[in-house]
Amino acid sequence: MRYAIIADIHANLEALTAVMEDIKKRGGVERIWCLGDVVDYGPDPHECIELLRQRNHIGVAGNHDLAAIGNIDTTEFHPDAAVASHWTSQQLKITDIEYLRDLPLVIEKDDFTLVHGSPRNPAWEYVISPTIVEENLPYFKSPFCLVGHTHIPFISRYQENGACSFDQFPGDAELALGPNRLILNPGGVGQPRDGDPRASYAIYDSESIMVHLYRVAYDIATTQAKMLKHGLPVNLITRLSYGW
Ligand code: ZN
Repeated sequence: MRYAIIADIHANLEALTAVMEDIKKRGGVERIWCLGDVVDYGPDPHECIELLRQRNHIGVAGNHDLAAIGNIDTTEFHPDAAVASHWTSQQLKITDIEYLRDLPLVIEKDDFTLVHGSPRNPAWEYVISPTIVEENLPYFKSPFCLVGHTHIPFISRYQENGACSFDQFPGDAELALGPNRLILNPGGVGQPRDGDPRASYAIYDSESIMVHLYRVAYDIATTQAKMLKHGLPVNLITRLSYGW
């Protein structure tokens, strides 16, 4: 079976569409695993939820999904994020709210645990260092854990000496899953933050037991023009050009 691993779509329909086309071009997948933050920041929250609903997928909730339906408070958000969250909540249709409300915080599937932030704190914690990975290992039972939230693709693997490696997962790189436990982030579809503005996602092949990371160019100018039209914060518009 082949699975696409996607995260942090952030209502960016052009990026999500480009990723879906790329998946198709590479022979397709049986199922999509979505690691949360389908909405917020971008201009097409309803359309992105609809596109996902048309695909065979499972997904967990991200902090922005929960904020958009009022399940968490935005007072700790950056002011730009709070503005975008408020705008997003006004765009959602009843079916979108139901979809987001029904997303679990954690999914355990075969050898994988899926969360948005971290196994220890699924909605909020950023996995940004080997120390945080080590602290999170007792919080999931499966060999492998998939996270989003930082919008930066990485692989962190448990080593025999008890420490964890923490490496960037570059575009077109392949990772063979082995006996060592690991936490992997496929990067962000709709708002990459590793200096590469292209959408980021991964495909896992359960036969070869390999994960392949892909970067996909998309029509950033169209997304930005829609955001401008809707009066979304300028910083959120600009950052898409640079991938930060
Ligand atoms: Zn996010």
